[in-house]
Amino acid sequence: MRDFKQKEIKMKIEVLNAGFVRLVSYTQPVHHTPDWDGDLEIVRNARVSYDADWRDADKSKDKKLVNYLYENNHSSPFEAMVFTFEVKAPLFVLRQWHRHRTWSYNEVSARYTELPEDFFIPRTLFQQSSGNKQMSSDARVQFSEELIAAMNVQNKSAFALYKDLMERGVSREIARTVLPLSTYSRMFATVDLNNLFKFIDLRTHSHAQPEIAVYGVALLRLIEDICPAAVAAFQAKTARSYPA
Ligand SMILES: Cc1cc2nc3c(=O)[nH]c(=O)nc-3n(C[C@H](O)[C@H](O)[C@H](O)COP(=O)(O)OP(=O)(O)OC[C@H]3O[C@@H](n4cnc5c(N)ncnc54)[C@H](O)[C@@H]3O)c2cc1C
Repeated sequence: MRDFKQKEIKMKIEVLNAGFVRLVSYTQPVHHTPDWDGDLEIVRNARVSYDADWRDADKSKDKKLVNYLYENNHSSPFEAMVFTFEVKAPLFVLRQWHRHRTWSYNEVSARYTELPEDFFIPRTLFQQSSGNKQMSSDARVQFSEELIAAMNVQNKSAFALYKDLMERGVSREIARTVLPLSTYSRMFATVDLNNLFKFIDLRTHSHAQPEIAVYGVALLRLIEDICPAAVAAFQAKTARSYPA
């Protein structure tokens, strides 16, 4: 495997009109060897079970082992790698995200601070799917641009009321209740690799909402240089193509 320290790690990926995912931190060993990477963290946890050396002299065996473990649902070695991300996303995306109980979250509190005027704006509008009750179809709505402009007017008017209420002395915790689901919020979110893969799998599925799927793809791109064999094993198992 390569010298990890020489590898450029992606740090931040922008998504939607004003969102992003930033890699904040990830598991590091106490004794850092030049060839350390996240895949080594996985294989050495796995090799404890049969009391073998951490890393085989034949490095290709590490990749094979990672693949075997993922393919056969030996999940706990993947829990040895833990990541923290900073995420900026609209409230309707965070609401879906927070259903994933295996993550730890710390979100900006709109009781403590005023939220900025930051709203999700769709690029275009699609009709409701007739075949799947939870999804959009591929058919565009007529006069999309005008409707998006109207959604924007609604956002701005909600924000103006939010500010006005606070200026008149209403507490932040109540004033915020007039803000729409399109309002952006920000959180730190921590998860192990096993549950991160579960999240990406569910949220990049064709039935998932595209506005959360783009975050799933961004997460995959942020970790692919840290544990490349694990990401390759995940992609092979899900047999899905993920945009670069
Ligand atoms: C396309 C899509 C549509 C959805 N629609 C809806 C909807 O209409 N309404 C709605 O309410 N939700 C909906 N969800 C949310 C969904 O039901 C799950 O709550 C969410 O995806 C989190 O999945 P999870 O439980 O696997 O993740 P996590 O909570 O991160 O859990 C990961 C894994 O850990 C284990 N685990 C975690 N907690 C427990 C526990 N308490 N007991 C046993 N095992 C546990 C399970 O194996 C689980 O798969 C939807 C999700 C998707 C992807």
